[in-house]
Amino acid sequence: MARILGISGSLRAKSYNTALLNAAVALQPAGTQIETASIRGIPLYDGDVEEREGIPASVSTLKKRIEQSDALLLVMSRGEKSRGWIPSKFFQYLGTGNPVLALAPEGEVRDILARLGVKSLDDIIGRATPNVTDWQYLNLNYVAKAHIDQDACIKCGRCHIACEDTSHQAITSMVDGVRHFEVIEAECVGCNLCVNVCPVENCITMEPLAVGVMDQRTGKPVSPIYANWTTHPNNPMAKVAAE
Ligand code: SF4
Ligand code: SF4
Repeated sequence: MARILGISGSLRAKSYNTALLNAAVALQPAGTQIETASIRGIPLYDGDVEEREGIPASVSTLKKRIEQSDALLLVMSRGEKSRGWIPSKFFQYLGTGNPVLALAPEGEVRDILARLGVKSLDDIIGRATPNVTDWQYLNLNYVAKAHIDQDACIKCGRCHIACEDTSHQAITSMVDGVRHFEVIEAECVGCNLCVNVCPVENCITMEPLAVGVMDQRTGKPVSPIYANWTTHPNNPMAKVAAE
């Protein structure tokens, strides 16, 4: 049973954040136990007070509950984050290492929708559904290669391990005796795995090859023709697959 501790970033009884948290509790799936805690009585972080008097009792109590849980579910608005003590000071105080499951900033959702020119959530709900298809109808002639931004890379090596062990051994770990992570285009099959494991946002991107450009892996130019698993000549069972 996964024990999750949910904390609302607001003290108001009618806060949307608290309502969202209550909804999460009401809808929790089997095998999960969401308990709630409040930030009421948690003082602003003050290193001097801590040095002089130790950690306040209200903080110790909440800290203990966090330590006893498997994960945190934080529901707070952007305003609460920008006050500066959530999450940085707040969690510095609590000294927690538990994974934070989710952050639901009301304000940011509104901003993202505004940037996209979307007036209401109803305008976008379900919009991606027509793009979902059975894997066998994906275009096999679509080619994309991973690309690593060397300025952003922190050389953690996760992409190399993921590609080496699970995909196509297409990422270097050492070049000329120096730790260096770079995609070997002639090996990359565009599986996207490295993007999923990289901890740095936008450090690895998938770059599509334009029609006519030589794919170094196959030695053939990218075809403009849509061909899926039921039609592509590479599949000797295409006819059977189509049936
Ligand atoms: S996309 Fe796949 S094959 Fe290409 S480098 Fe990343 S993990 Fe390796
Ligand atoms: S996972 Fe990302 S940050 Fe880490 S070595 Fe690979 S590209 Fe660099």
